[in-house]
Amino acid sequence: MVRNQLVDSRDLRFVLFEMLHADGLSRFERYSALDRDAFDATLDLAEQMAVEKVYPANAASDRNGARYDPETKNVAVPGEFKDVIAYFNEAGFSGIGGDPAWGGMGMPETICRAVMEYFFAASVSFTMHVSLSVGAANLVRNFAPEHLKKLYLEKMTAGAWGGTMCLTEPDAGSDVGALKTKALRQADGTYLITGQKIFISSGENDLYENIVHTVLARIEGDPPGTKGISIFLVPKYLANPDGTIGGRNDVVCSGIEHKMGIKGSATSSLSFGDNGRCVGWLMGEERQGMKIMFQMMNEARLDVALQGLAVSSSAYLHAVSYAKNRVQGSDPLSKGSANCVIVKHPDVRRMLLWMKSNVEAMRMITLLAAHSSDLAHAEQGEAAREAQALLDFLIPLCKAGNTDLAWLVTAEAIQVYGGYGYCADYPVEQLARDSKILSLYEGTNGIQSMDFAMRKLLMNPGMYNYSVFKKRLGETMDLASKSVDPTYVAVMTKALGSIEQAMDFLAKKRDAGDMAAVFAAATPLQQAFRMLVHGWMHLWSMALCAPKLKEISGGLEEAALKEFVRDNSEAAYYYGKIISSRFYIGSELYKIFGMVEAILAGEPAVADSFEEIFTGALE
Ligand SMILES: Cc1cc2nc3c(=O)[nH]c(=O)nc-3n(C[C@H](O)[C@H](O)[C@H](O)COP(=O)(O)OP(=O)(O)OC[C@H]3O[C@@H](n4cnc5c(N)ncnc54)[C@H](O)[C@@H]3O)c2cc1C
Repeated sequence: MVRNQLVDSRDLRFVLFEMLHADGLSRFERYSALDRDAFDATLDLAEQMAVEKVYPANAASDRNGARYDPETKNVAVPGEFKDVIAYFNEAGFSGIGGDPAWGGMGMPETICRAVMEYFFAASVSFTMHVSLSVGAANLVRNFAPEHLKKLYLEKMTAGAWGGTMCLTEPDAGSDVGALKTKALRQADGTYLITGQKIFISSGENDLYENIVHTVLARIEGDPPGTKGISIFLVPKYLANPDGTIGGRNDVVCSGIEHKMGIKGSATSSLSFGDNGRCVGWLMGEERQGMKIMFQMMNEARLDVALQGLAVSSSAYLHAVSYAKNRVQGSDPLSKGSANCVIVKHPDVRRMLLWMKSNVEAMRMITLLAAHSSDLAHAEQGEAAREAQALLDFLIPLCKAGNTDLAWLVTAEAIQVYGGYGYCADYPVEQLARDSKILSLYEGTNGIQSMDFAMRKLLMNPGMYNYSVFKKRLGETMDLASKSVDPTYVAVMTKALGSIEQAMDFLAKKRDAGDMAAVFAAATPLQQAFRMLVHGWMHLWSMALCAPKLKEISGGLEEAALKEFVRDNSEAAYYYGKIISSRFYIGSELYKIFGMVEAILAGEPAVADSFEEIFTGALE
């Protein structure tokens, strides 16, 4: 088996099979050909490929970056990625969740996400190329007319042709409705596209033979704002009727960004229709572009949440390896013992435990969201409705939560390394740089917080999403009351009560029409809620791990148990899980009370502020 350095595979399997029982998905017709063995084999292959093929390309891709040639307007991705994608496609990972009718593996989303944790942990830059292509392929599969699916989908599923999502323009970032790209209806049913898109990941590259852009544009005469937006399939090369590559479409790359991180990902500016010949095909109905994009949004946001988890996982495991080997000072708890590895210092263990507990919480919440997505599609009636409600509730918490934490966890990894962590010879500084984009793209975390506070809570009709969440939390509390020290259940009960106070407070502000107070509290509320949900995950984990540890160890007393755990890797795993959850609920979660108090203080300084008070800046 490969060396396990980027993702804790034991923990991944705990979440998949002991917590979520993902192998039970094979009870549904669409997954009936799959079983635990198939899932394990896929995960093993992904881990091996991520560690042996993808990870070695990551540091070089950071040094070399993607390169733009202004003469040819082509982009060369780091050369290392070309070998890697060949292995990736050969193993079928580009089509892991794809429809078997189009050559995909048809794996459930829960397993696809788990697989992608390995690849994102190995290289965000490389995996960006493939994940954008998978997202575009899903759009084509769900919304393109049949004749286009025949021409484009099989090649995309095989990973031979890539894809993009083209939303952003110079004046349309968070406000997508402000876009100016135009589509002009043609007599043959196609559209002529004109406009500029910026920041398009994989917008131009030499990794794929062809690139299928999915482009938001406004058909001439359609209303302004998001209501008038449609979505188009715009290939770089038009496909011939036999599916081979045909003539070049009128879309060119006018440059790429020079960025702080993910340097191997080509963040491209694209110019559509400079010569009036850019052909696009409508996907779905006219003016349904935002609705279609919204359907894909959960998927894309979960992808970014996964990136946050994966980068954090890699940073944490690198920090653990370093702390177990770096000798510095003497053991403060054992007099006179010099040459102490730094993991023995309580402050270093505090840092590692903080990282471990956050990484594990991120993994649990992200895979729970993915599993909810599978159930929302596979179940019927109320069960499907509940699964969808939980998914919708969790998505902004996964996206904003994991990605805010990724920046903090990677920074803490640098701290564990000391000065070496700041130096390019060690991997954690790249992880920190690569992680910063995650809170920005796919809807900034400010926008996620507004979505969570308004759509999922304060403006949510009947508070259905919240009631589903509360029901599930209640089930965990019942389970935990059988096996977990009641102190931890009590902290969770208090944290829930505290959050409800904050919600009531903000609902009153909403009713009084004080929307400035509500909007200003959106991010603090989302961050406090993230802690509550992470507490839920840890309580659930503790409720499962405590009986398992007892079973393995035969219920030893604490001192004997510690000795036993040192020689038994399964016991060490469960013991470590319990310590991690105790740290989170018994220590970290207490921060929620201060966060809620800050909301309840209702300080109106943000509402009372205005542009002119921010003096001293350049105009
Ligand atoms: C490396 C990279 C890759 C990218 N890949 C893609 C891609 O593949 N496809 C694509 O279409 N785009 C892509 N983007 C664009 C990305 O999605 C946008 O940068 C992002 O949506 C934010 O838009 P903006 O940069 O214009 O910031 P702005 O919208 O100008 O936001 C600036 C600040 O104002 C805040 N803000 C703005 N509006 C509001 C509001 N209504 N309420 C509260 N706060 C608000 C934001 O939260 C943020 O803090 C990428 C960007 C980068 C840097």
